[in-house]
Amino acid sequence: MIGERINMNKYETLKKYFGYDSFREGQETLIDAILSDRDVLGIMPTGAGKSICYQVPALLLPGITLVISPLISLMKDQVQSLNQAGIHAAYINSSLTESQISKALQYAAAGRYKIIYVAPERLETYGFLEFAKQVEISMLTVDEAHCISQWGQDFRPSYLKIVEFIKQLKKRPILSAFTATATENVKDDILCILGLHNPEVLVTGFDRKNLYFAVETPRKKDDFVINYVKEHEAESGVIYCATRKNVDALYEKLAANGVAVTKYHAGLDNEERKQNQEDFIYDKYPVMIATNAFGMGIDKSNVRYVIHYNMPQSLENYYQEAGRAGRDGEAAECILLYSAQDVMINRFLIDNKEQNQEFTEDELAAIRERDEERLRAMNYYCLTRNCLREYILRYFGEFGMGECENCSNCKKEFEYIDVTEAAVKIISCVEEMRGRYGINVVAGTLLGSDRAKLREYGVSVYSSYGSLKEMSEAGIKQIIHQMLIENLLFVTKDKYALLKVMDKAEEVVKGIRTVILKEPKKDPIKEKANVAKERGTATSKKASSVKGRISDILNSRGLDLFECLRKLRMEIAKEESVPPYIVFSDKTLADMCVKLPFSREEMLQVNGVGENKFTRYGERFIKEIENFTGGVREKLYFGE
Ligand code: ADP
Repeated sequence: MIGERINMNKYETLKKYFGYDSFREGQETLIDAILSDRDVLGIMPTGAGKSICYQVPALLLPGITLVISPLISLMKDQVQSLNQAGIHAAYINSSLTESQISKALQYAAAGRYKIIYVAPERLETYGFLEFAKQVEISMLTVDEAHCISQWGQDFRPSYLKIVEFIKQLKKRPILSAFTATATENVKDDILCILGLHNPEVLVTGFDRKNLYFAVETPRKKDDFVINYVKEHEAESGVIYCATRKNVDALYEKLAANGVAVTKYHAGLDNEERKQNQEDFIYDKYPVMIATNAFGMGIDKSNVRYVIHYNMPQSLENYYQEAGRAGRDGEAAECILLYSAQDVMINRFLIDNKEQNQEFTEDELAAIRERDEERLRAMNYYCLTRNCLREYILRYFGEFGMGECENCSNCKKEFEYIDVTEAAVKIISCVEEMRGRYGINVVAGTLLGSDRAKLREYGVSVYSSYGSLKEMSEAGIKQIIHQMLIENLLFVTKDKYALLKVMDKAEEVVKGIRTVILKEPKKDPIKEKANVAKERGTATSKKASSVKGRISDILNSRGLDLFECLRKLRMEIAKEESVPPYIVFSDKTLADMCVKLPFSREEMLQVNGVGENKFTRYGERFIKEIENFTGGVREKLYFGE
């Protein structure tokens, strides 16, 4: 098989092996470049479909494609998926015994595999190098290419060995590199260190359109989670908590409520962690409660929601963790449950972070400042009334559409309240206090609070004391936050976070500029929707619900069939010892419910059914559909 080109074009390859009809944004550009012998760098967000960009050309190029990948679990997942699709692939890493490795290399040398995944450490071993020198390597793909950069968080020194390795090959292969990390420094490092020749560099947006973003502030987070999880019973989800203690407590509650849930944190022993992770991946327990220790290398594509029980420390962390939802490109929800206490928990975590001994005092102070800054940006995300997606994209240096219509703020109805008068009083209070206090003291002073701390500071001498006493403290803080977002005020970056006035605030004092608060409308209908949301069961279309969830596509009978097909998928997954999503994705099952295929030709029209998958399972699914419908075509979905 190796050494000859497959007589198919890229579209036929995509359809036959992967069952897809068209390429997604960016895929074709990169594939075309590779097929015309050019190096490429693809920077695309998680779930965009980077794998297809090298897997399709790998099948069309004459020799072997070597894929360098940092994570054993990812390699296993990819190889299982490829094998299921009828593509000969293997991985070589430290999870195999020496004799398994030499057998794999023997098969590889005999041309058995078109795609081989290896860990970077493997490249310098004698056996592997000998093998690589003998065979024809058409392409070398560097997955998670940001690991080569010291600027990134995941720098892996062993990635630098790739360069040496390439030099030792008899012919330089085409190089293709992929990552989801988009910063300029990392990009430049990849291009420069890997030495890409005249590469096609493609950067697609950072936006994950299929994800719905929401910030909720339920009175009881536990009740919200329990109700949400029960409402989404058939779905797989991850719930992140800030501490192990929270994980354990929430786990107990959900388990006691009959939820099929498992947990993961650094306090569990290795064996238990591994087992729990497997149980989640194989959908034995579709709900995972975890600290941020969970997730590296988790490629479960059918995670339908990620709930953050606590606010994370930065948007970088949040976007990475929330981004584990909807990797299959299907609609999924990312919900952050906010309470002001989360800021305190995070500040405590930052204060008690284990510090690298090699840093100097100055460096530690700079790190601390950066952490504080990130925490503040995260906090503003929870407070903003504007489009959440836009906020995230701007933070990462991009611009969205302004209003995405797929986040909790865009779905809410707001009214606009002029708070200029209060803003002027806030400015004069901060000026009067000469910027010596933080938000809590300023808000308490304006309120005229008699708290012990305020008495101790003697704030009652200020003329601003009690000047906003008709308002609530939360209301005052909300205006302050709005003024921070508008850069009328700022807080110092040190841990005291002192509130100061910006020059621009002068415009407000002079009456040239107004300060407007955007408040969720309080009408009876809306209130009802909020109560429902509090219970985790949003009923109003406007109030929640992402576009394109399976329950929005299929009617109740359609959902029944979907359930039957899910059961069959689980049965097959068990027989084959692979996770269910590797057999077929949820999207593919939903498409079966829409198209109701009764024949091979019809089944091959279903999104995600390639020829090999059809040969393996097609008939079983057709039979299930026939049993359910009695062979009579009916409409099991909404819309046209
Ligand atoms: P990434 O590596 O960029 O995070 P993956 O390669 O894992 O993303 O792809 C995410 C999902 O999208 C997978 O389930 C994959 O099969 C699917 N996918 C990729 N390309 C296409 C396509 N052209 N049409 C439909 N689905 C696709």
